[in-house]
Amino acid sequence: MQHQPISRRKGEAPSTMPLWVATAAPGPGLAPLGAEIEADVLVIGGGIAGMTTALHLVEAGVDTVLLEAGQPGDQATGWSGGLVAPDYIRHTPETIGTVLGRHHGEMLTRMIGGSARAVFDLIERHAIDCDARQDGFYTPAHSEGLAQSQRGYAEQWQSRGYDVRFVEAREARHMFGVERYCGALRFGEGGSLNPLGYVRGLAQAALKQGARLFGESPVQALRREGGRWIARTPGGAVSARRVVLAANGGNARLHPALRRTALPLHVVQFATAPLDDVQRAAILPEGGAFTDKVSYLFTARLDPQGHLISAFPMSFLVRGDRAHLREARRRLRQHFAALSDPRIDHVWEGLAWVNASFLPELYDLGDGALAIQADNGRGIGINTQLGIEVAAAIASNSRARLSVVPREPHPIRLHAGAALLPKLLMTMAWLSN
Ligand SMILES: Cc1cc2nc3c(=O)[nH]c(=O)nc-3n(C[C@H](O)[C@H](O)[C@H](O)COP(=O)(O)OP(=O)(O)OC[C@H]3O[C@@H](n4cnc5c(N)ncnc54)[C@H](O)[C@@H]3O)c2cc1C
Repeated sequence: MQHQPISRRKGEAPSTMPLWVATAAPGPGLAPLGAEIEADVLVIGGGIAGMTTALHLVEAGVDTVLLEAGQPGDQATGWSGGLVAPDYIRHTPETIGTVLGRHHGEMLTRMIGGSARAVFDLIERHAIDCDARQDGFYTPAHSEGLAQSQRGYAEQWQSRGYDVRFVEAREARHMFGVERYCGALRFGEGGSLNPLGYVRGLAQAALKQGARLFGESPVQALRREGGRWIARTPGGAVSARRVVLAANGGNARLHPALRRTALPLHVVQFATAPLDDVQRAAILPEGGAFTDKVSYLFTARLDPQGHLISAFPMSFLVRGDRAHLREARRRLRQHFAALSDPRIDHVWEGLAWVNASFLPELYDLGDGALAIQADNGRGIGINTQLGIEVAAAIASNSRARLSVVPREPHPIRLHAGAALLPKLLMTMAWLSN
C-alpha cells in the first residue's frame, strides 16, 4: 500500500525530516517501561538489528524484552536510504578470504550474499507493508579499470551460486539514465524498501509473536547485579539472564568496552519531488538502485511515488541547510541529464557508524552479553542477517553457525582524532568532485 506524502509547494524549503516519516505505514507506538520486570533475554535498541533479533528470539520461544530509546527506526534505520545491497563495501568473495581466512571468509560471503534474500523473505513472511522492490542493486564502475575488475568479481559471486552479473556500459547507461559509468555489477536479489516501514513492520510482527517491546525507554545504566544484567530506564528496570546490545552508536554508552569501537559517518540524504513522466522514462526506467564506488559516493533509487532518493557524505566544507540543498541539486545535475532543475522536497542528516575493519562485528562482552556493531553502509541486509543469526545462537546455546565470529572489542587507537577522519576524507573527496 502506498502512503501519500504531503506535497510541498514550489519554492518552499525542503523538509528536514526523512521522506519515510511521510510515507511509511504507521508504527506500533510503543509505550514506555513503567515497572521492574524480568526476561530471559533483553535486547537494547529498536533499529533493524534489535528488532530482527527480538522477532526471531520470540519465534524460537525465548522470553524477550526490547527497550528502545525512542520509537522503532528513530535513528540510522529510519534515516537511511533504504537500498538493499547484498555486497561488500570494500571486499570481494576472494579478497575477504585473505583477511579472515578461507573458512570464515566463505561464511561471511554466504551471509552477505544472502542478505537481500533474507530481507525480502522476512517481508513476505510477515506481510510487511514497506514498498519493497526486489528489482536489483547495482554498483556502477566509474573507470575502465574498475569495470574490468568487476567482470572478475561477477564470476566470483556466480561461482558461489549468486545472481550477480556484469552489465556493460551501454546497458548500464540505459538502466540508470547516467552517462558517466563504464558498466556495473548487478546483484539480482537486491533492491530497495521504505526502511522505516520495514522496521515498524518487524516491530508489529514481534509484538504479534509475544515480544514485550517498550519505546521512549532509554537505558541509562546497564550493570551486572547478582549474576544477572540489570538495565535501568527512567520508568523502570529489566533484569535479564542474557543481553544483546543493538543500539548502534548508542552501544558506546552502554558498555565501557564499546566506547571507542566505531567511527561516525555523517550522511545527507535527500529526495526530489515526484519525477514527471519524461524524467521517469529516463531515470532508472526499469527500477533498481545503485551506489557507486567513488570516494564521494553517489547513490540513487526511486520510491513508488517517483521520488528520486540520493545522498552525499557530509564534509567540513558543505555546511548548513542551504549548502546541503545546493549540493543535492548539484549532484543530481552532475549525474542525470534529465534533471536540469531538480526540485528537492526532503533533505535530512543521518548518522551512520563504521567499523575500522569496514566489516560487520559481533562483540562478546562476557556473561551472556553480545553486541551487534554492524558496519552501517550495508546495514539493512547485514543487520537483518545478524539479528536472525544472533537470535538462533542464543536460542540454541550454540555460536557455531554465526557468520561473524564474536570477539573481544578492541578500541580504535587515537579514537577522538580518528572520529574526525570520515568527514576529513569526505572533505578531500568533495574537493576533487
Ligand atoms: C543516512 C544513512 C543512509 C543509509 N543508507 C543505507 C542504505 O541505503 N542501505 C543500507 O543497507 N544501509 C544504509 N544505512 C545504514 C543502515 O541504516 C544501518 O546500518 C542500520 O539501519 C543500523 O541498524 P541498527 O539497528 O544497528 O541501528 P539503529 O537503526 O541506529 O538502531 C539503534 C537503536 O538503538 C536505540 N538506542 C540507542 N541508545 C539506546 C539506549 N541507551 N537505550 C535504548 N535504545 C537505544 C536508538 O534509538 C535506535 O533506534 C544508512 C545509514 C544512514 C545513517
